[in-house]
Amino acid sequence: MALIVQKYGGSSVANTERILHVARRVAARAREGSQIVVTVSAMGDTTDDLIALAQQVTERPSDREMDLLLSTGEIVSCTLLAMALRDLGVPARSFTGWQAGILTNDTHGRARVLSIDPARLRASLDRGEVAVVAGFQGITTETDVTTLGRGGSDTTAVALAAALGAGCCDIYTDVEGVYTCDPRLEPQARKLREISYEEMLEMASQGARVMHPRAVELGAIHGIPILVASSMKDAPGTLIHGDCGMEPVNKVRGISHDTDIAKVTVLGVPDRPGAAAELFACLGGSNLAADTIVQNASAHGPATDLTFTVGVADLRRALEAITPVAVEMGASGVITDDRLGKLSIVGTGVLNTPGYAPRMFKALADAGINIELITTSEIRITCIIDQGRIPDAVRVLHATFELERAESTPG
Ligand code: ADP
Ligand code: ASP
Ligand code: MG
Repeated sequence: MALIVQKYGGSSVANTERILHVARRVAARAREGSQIVVTVSAMGDTTDDLIALAQQVTERPSDREMDLLLSTGEIVSCTLLAMALRDLGVPARSFTGWQAGILTNDTHGRARVLSIDPARLRASLDRGEVAVVAGFQGITTETDVTTLGRGGSDTTAVALAAALGAGCCDIYTDVEGVYTCDPRLEPQARKLREISYEEMLEMASQGARVMHPRAVELGAIHGIPILVASSMKDAPGTLIHGDCGMEPVNKVRGISHDTDIAKVTVLGVPDRPGAAAELFACLGGSNLAADTIVQNASAHGPATDLTFTVGVADLRRALEAITPVAVEMGASGVITDDRLGKLSIVGTGVLNTPGYAPRMFKALADAGINIELITTSEIRITCIIDQGRIPDAVRVLHATFELERAESTPG
């Protein structure tokens, strides 16, 4: 019997009407005779609301308490969906991450799935039930509840598909698939029929919210094709998989953006071996990873400035971690800017093919957009710019690289 793993995101279960709509969709598939595991996100903005609630009682909520609090959002939506299914005459049972056997490490707020013991889910499927699993959460070996990072229900779905040996994982959301850029910023954005794991991972890591990066990584590791499609419309979605033609397409596939970037500059860092290692070790010790890092060798004098970026939500913790170390090593100060955004062009061959970088920089210059920092990977060029200019910049680059035009299929 075919096993289907589906995931419905927050806007797809935003209210009880939508939960009933999802229940009807799932019921229709169940009646076709498939075994179904469904994972859901919290309803609408529930996770944001829970974070705001915590902030009303303390400025520094404990990571452990925060995870237990946030996990409740997904528990609400999965129980309601199971009830709705039962009401339609479809046997269904809800499971928290813990009950579904999802074991994670203890990095609260961004835990990684270590393993899944699918025994309870299999027993549920064998009884003819739809298994409805709360997304975004797991449990440590010490039985503390963890969450997988914002957007992490996608990862729950792909991890479950891997653990249960499903052939594919369906991610249902509020857009019809993966587009050349966020379709909410650029109406000309074009839906991609398919995209490789590698390109999707890069787009997701650089802010394309439509997929959680870790979900794409797990799909690639376990060879699970991921279909991204609409929860509302019956329209063909985007298949993320590993077999997108033999030759690199050598073209910009998409543009990602993120409007919540903060920059930290440590001024006058002593120009000696080990200074950067000390600064970044203390960030790592606080479970934070810097994104873009820029340090120029000092042309004169024994000190240099070191700049890195983090998500705005991590800025306070980054400063708390880094400031004492900077003072201790004799740096002259730490300054920040939390009104930045990042913008990336992604596509196989982009970095190694001459012309893409200058075209990107010139298009931004022509639009009067100043570039603060630049970073690259094999298949990506990223610019850090003023947050307020991100929408313009996305549209300008979409036009510059003619992403609205249909691609010819590689031969
Ligand atoms: P869900 O709640 O279903 O997980 P998300 O809000 O996490 O949905 O992700 C879907 C959103 O991702 C879309 O509404 C869209 O605005 C945004 N998005 C950003 N980049 C892209 C892209 N390249 N293609 C499609 N959607 C994108
Ligand atoms: N509810 C969580 C969030 O808002 C996880 C998810 O939606 O995937 O980030
Ligand atoms: Mg999401």
